[in-house]
Amino acid sequence: MERDFLHEKELTGQTTGHLIWDELDQTYIHKDVSAKFQTLKKLASKEGFTLGVVSGFRSFDLQKRIIEKKVSGERPILDDSGRIKKVEELSQSELLFSILRWSALPGLSRHHWGTDFDIYDKNTIPKNYAIKLTPDEYENDGPFTKLSEWLQELSRSSLNPSLFFPYEEDLGGVAREPWHISFSPLVPQFEKALSHSFFKRFIEENDIPLKSIILQKSEEIFERFIASSFFQRRPNSSFKETLTD
Ligand SMILES: [Zn+2]
Repeated sequence: MERDFLHEKELTGQTTGHLIWDELDQTYIHKDVSAKFQTLKKLASKEGFTLGVVSGFRSFDLQKRIIEKKVSGERPILDDSGRIKKVEELSQSELLFSILRWSALPGLSRHHWGTDFDIYDKNTIPKNYAIKLTPDEYENDGPFTKLSEWLQELSRSSLNPSLFFPYEEDLGGVAREPWHISFSPLVPQFEKALSHSFFKRFIEENDIPLKSIILQKSEEIFERFIASSFFQRRPNSSFKETLTD
């Protein structure tokens, strides 16, 4: 971005003004990331992959509906092995932390930025297959393992169009998401704006499910589920040294 400030609505998925619509992938993309994403797709197609987007930009309202459905039990809450937990047996705090393992709070998802995508390979998806976004689809004999391995390799090479994996490791917060890619060096702007004090104020000022327990645990949530995905903290990030900030 040319400007050096970021509007709160851009950070929290409440505007698409800084994004452009990608008809092919049916998602909004940040205008400064679009070219990088197209480069990635071209590089992928040279290797025989056809990159598809399961989920790109998500709005605040959509993320809020996802969380509301998890709180009400309309959408399943999963444990670490993918088994469904019973909502009525969980305390408010257990419910919140179980949700955070797989889903971001509304206003605080990386998917609000137009810089992050959940991707798959259109060439290797089995017929009539509904993608679950589970690690086994991207590892061992999974349909997207080859794509995943190639992306990892690319991210460490000189051809890397500034790609990185914010959830490549399970650090005790968000579960591992090998399908979730992000583009630096734009994201540090978003990450810098998303401070703990911003996070707390945003929750205070908005109608968010589980609000009071979120505020009670705000520091722990921020450290474990938000800041741990930040580009600056990725231990293997080859772009680390190029950051000026
Ligand atoms: Zn994602």
